[in-house]
Amino acid sequence: MSAYNVVSIAGSDPSGGAGIQADLKSFSAHGVFGMSVVTALTAQSTRGVTGVHGVPASFVTDQMDTLFQDATVHAVKVGMLSTAEVTEAVAAAIDRYRLPNVVVDPVMVAKSGDRLLESSAMEALRRDLLPRADLITPNLPEAADLLGEDEATDLATMYSQAERLLKLGPRRVLLKGGHLPGEECVDLLVDGASDPLELRADRVPTRNTHGTGCTLSSSIAALLPQRPDMAAAVTDAKTWLTRALLHAEEIDAGGGQGPVHH
Ligand code: PLP
Repeated sequence: MSAYNVVSIAGSDPSGGAGIQADLKSFSAHGVFGMSVVTALTAQSTRGVTGVHGVPASFVTDQMDTLFQDATVHAVKVGMLSTAEVTEAVAAAIDRYRLPNVVVDPVMVAKSGDRLLESSAMEALRRDLLPRADLITPNLPEAADLLGEDEATDLATMYSQAERLLKLGPRRVLLKGGHLPGEECVDLLVDGASDPLELRADRVPTRNTHGTGCTLSSSIAALLPQRPDMAAAVTDAKTWLTRALLHAEEIDAGGGQGPVHH
């Protein structure tokens, strides 16, 4: 039996590589008990997203109220939110239930290019959700969108963007540098107080990277209650994800961009 309950508030990916399905697999892999609140259904395969059917914000709230009035939750991963109304509903529930260890993956556009957050929801994400996050995990395009700046093309700009993201209110920022070219992927963890932490990993040559962002953020949420601090949880989650990427070719989930291996 697991001592910890961890909830994913996110969208469904029927192909199992991203979203709620990926999160629940990460939770199991890290030995916590996974729960989920569905914000949207997608019609999706390894080739891309063909449709999105959002859950009304009032029913996302019903799911959260029913769950959180009953279960003690030790960490939360927030992924695809789809609309401003759902974003506001999740922010309100974080306050109402004083949810701990909130990891927000600011999902906007899938690797296939399909939008997972309406552009009109960006303001709600910035205003209502980011200040309630213990950690946000943007990649470089998401960071640029959140800041209204060009995408970083070097490590120095990543450092300054990570600092500016902190000013949007989250307690910590993990800025993921995988979109920069090079043999190494460098992610930055900043909290505004201690020295920034650079997490370096050799780039894994695979096209099966569908759901890497979901999988990393849910791994961090799963590890937070089990590690002494954020740096330890992020470091261990990144090591685990790199190993999963090394095994990604073992899965054949379709003809497009496959999932990382769990
Ligand atoms: N589908 C859902 C439901 C997601 O939450 C996400 C990512 O967060 C994706 C798809 C996109 O995954 P990727 O961009 O890794 O292909």
